[in-house]
Amino acid sequence: MRPRSVVIVAEHDQRGLCAVNQDVVACARGLAASLSVPVSAVVLGDRPEPAAREMAQIFGIDVTAVENPFLKGYCAEVYLQELHALLVEWAPAFVLTGHTGTGCDFAPGLAVGLDAACITAVEDVAYRQGQALFFRGIAGGKLIAGVGASTPTAVITVLPGAFREKVTPEPAMAGEVTVRKGSIGPRHTLALGIQRGEEAASNLAEARVIVSAGNGIGNPENLILVERLAALFGGSAVAGSRPVCDQGWLPYNRQVGVTGKVVAPDVYIACGISGASQHVAGMAGSGLVVAINTDPHAAIFREADIGIVEDLTTFIPVLLEMFNDLK
Ligand SMILES: Cc1cc2nc3c(=O)[nH]c(=O)nc-3n(C[C@H](O)[C@H](O)[C@H](O)COP(=O)(O)OP(=O)(O)OC[C@H]3O[C@@H](n4cnc5c(N)ncnc54)[C@H](O)[C@@H]3O)c2cc1C
Repeated sequence: MRPRSVVIVAEHDQRGLCAVNQDVVACARGLAASLSVPVSAVVLGDRPEPAAREMAQIFGIDVTAVENPFLKGYCAEVYLQELHALLVEWAPAFVLTGHTGTGCDFAPGLAVGLDAACITAVEDVAYRQGQALFFRGIAGGKLIAGVGASTPTAVITVLPGAFREKVTPEPAMAGEVTVRKGSIGPRHTLALGIQRGEEAASNLAEARVIVSAGNGIGNPENLILVERLAALFGGSAVAGSRPVCDQGWLPYNRQVGVTGKVVAPDVYIACGISGASQHVAGMAGSGLVVAINTDPHAAIFREADIGIVEDLTTFIPVLLEMFNDLK
């Protein structure tokens, strides 16, 4: 049995590690330091070794690669069985993963199996008298709740982008990788594999710059301004607020917010977005926030590092023209 460690369940897709691992590692390191315990990671897959080696290399932590032929794609049932077998043996203090579609899928079931607390969408941690207190937005991000675990093990999902500032530079030494063969197959589910969605070309989760359209764009024809603005940046994507998706101007897979996607790009440009808490809950982890809004009192300016009080149909064309001149 390992000492009361902190264990990360790393996320990867067919192409490599997912960006959310950075936040999870940063959060895990804070917890491990406060408890003076080691931190390690688990990578599951049918061929998990490359992702495990990458994880060990980038973050300098020991990684267990759980190899299971039934994990050609993500399968919750196999994840739960493999993780349960491993974690019952290790009895860690905390198990951390990303607050993503995958993490949200298996974390509650894992917690039930381990008789552990499950604390989701964690955006900050404080330490009081040796106890970790996890902070998470509730009521659509209007309130922040502090939650502690009273169980020996707690399963935590970490909000993408929330620990961006705590990410430490690359370590000098890579961690060790151990391969563990698993063979437990699913009994109740049949995983047919993963297919990338329509937004694959500019996935919101991976985009470094997101230009987001709000109701303030006025009509769908003005989306072209937002698209042209996004096209100025490499690795960018176009997103929108709920009214924009409700009106069918953008598909729902582009909606940012509490009932849409949680995003954490380096730059988030909000065009004609009021800054309702339900929207902010989906983009609060962004790096630099730029807001363009005609109303100087719009709530979005409370989130913005750069605020532009102007009609977007005036401002964006001028900006595009300036960029063209620079080129
Ligand atoms: C349970 C629940 C879940 C929700 N989930 C989500 C969610 O996931 N995502 C989400 O986005 N919303 C969500 N909402 C809706 C949310 O409460 C807001 O209604 C929504 O975010 C508002 O979108 P908006 O800012 O684009 O539009 P509006 O509130 O209409 O704001 C438009 C803004 O554009 C500005 N503007 C107008 N014209 C211009 C112009 N020409 N140039 C520049 N600025 C201009 C205005 O000043 C205004 O601030 C949810 C609501 C509920 C109740």
